[in-house]
Amino acid sequence: MTSKNSAMMQRDLEVIWHPCTQMKDHETLPLIPIRSGKGIYLYDFDGNSYIDAVSSWWVNLFGHANETINNKVKAQLDTLEHVLLAGFTHEPAIELAHKLVNITPQKLTKVFYVDNGSSAVEAALKMSYHYHLNLGKRKPLFLSLTNSYHGETIGALSVGDVALYKETYEPLLIANMQVPVPKDQSESAADEALAILEKVLQERSHEIAALILEPLIQGAGGMHMYHPAYLKGARVLTKQYDVHLIADEIMTGFGRTGKMFACEHADISPDFMTLSKGLSGGYLPLSVVMTSDEVYNAFYCDYNEYKAFLHSHSYTGNPLACSAALATLEIFEQNDILGENEKKRAYIQKRVEKFRSLPNVKEIRQQGMVTAIELQGYDVKERIGLRIYEYALSRGVLLRPLGNVIYFMPPYIITNEEIDKMIEVAYEGIERIIS
Ligand SMILES: *Cc1c(COP(=O)(O)O)cnc(C)c1O
Repeated sequence: MTSKNSAMMQRDLEVIWHPCTQMKDHETLPLIPIRSGKGIYLYDFDGNSYIDAVSSWWVNLFGHANETINNKVKAQLDTLEHVLLAGFTHEPAIELAHKLVNITPQKLTKVFYVDNGSSAVEAALKMSYHYHLNLGKRKPLFLSLTNSYHGETIGALSVGDVALYKETYEPLLIANMQVPVPKDQSESAADEALAILEKVLQERSHEIAALILEPLIQGAGGMHMYHPAYLKGARVLTKQYDVHLIADEIMTGFGRTGKMFACEHADISPDFMTLSKGLSGGYLPLSVVMTSDEVYNAFYCDYNEYKAFLHSHSYTGNPLACSAALATLEIFEQNDILGENEKKRAYIQKRVEKFRSLPNVKEIRQQGMVTAIELQGYDVKERIGLRIYEYALSRGVLLRPLGNVIYFMPPYIITNEEIDKMIEVAYEGIERIIS
């Protein structure tokens, strides 16, 4: 690495402990200091550019330094940077909540602001448990799907199933049960998984507050995908057995699956929906838990009945973050984003066909523009994902494989030529590990 990047890296490593990182890796693996971003590109201190093919951990929708979002946030900065949301309110939070109620499934009419994805999951779990408690029912268990990911705070980690994260912290986790996720995208796999869900609900529903799931795509679980029939069935069963359905759309929300929200593919309204990541266009930490009047009303009573929901964060509903979210929704309103994305999805689908002839490709799957290529024949210890990551960086593309799964989740503004480059580099990376 040449001088400026290297100097920045040294200065960083003196003081920063990076997330999800074995810091010793950086003795050999360069850390990339980013100086600026524009559109789908990130620029380092030595003038190299990188296509952000993973939307900076799935948050960015319309590119870095987006003009519409920048302008709205700048205007908000000169108006009001922050105010507490207890006893006070502000226009961006009000307007955003109205818009979210308008665009999410019908039952979702109330917005609870939080400030990051994991905390939204925590709030949804607590709200579900507390709802039943307020109705005189003790339901201390949650149900989730195998291979799921819902964040990394203790409660969110408890309902997740990423082995590496979970084993270490097992003794700290809260009570949770798991049912199998459909094994693939077929409708029959959805039916098989629903049969097991029904059996568990028959036996244990009196103890279970909610079923939490990532609709259609399990992101951190290697971009595993399943059929909308599972969502439809899970909605019917949870209703029948007095168990809430929490749709964690933190990653899938805002168009990633081809519709604005993944739940729309099954035409269902969950009891809770968690949103973050793309919510603010990838600009600022912000999240919400959306829920129904029915849930809201179970907490609504005289103070002395002590049924109020007990949860708050200092930066709840931050005005700058809400204004970034409003600008993001404005871009959806003024352009046919989902229509354009469908064309890009089809283009990506066509371009990844050639991966099928590579001997180490096990499966190619796609939902919306999210496209994953799963490799086979490698042990985790070989860290092939890391090798592909390093190769792609050297070619100016930021890919961040999940184990043996190479995936693309670019900002929506990517062009066909940029898609070609992103895919070509991934192809070469995969070819190189064969030989
Ligand atoms: C990223 C993610 C979370 C956690 O959000 P953070 O903001 O990283 O805490 C939760 N659920 C899903 C489905 C996610 O993809």
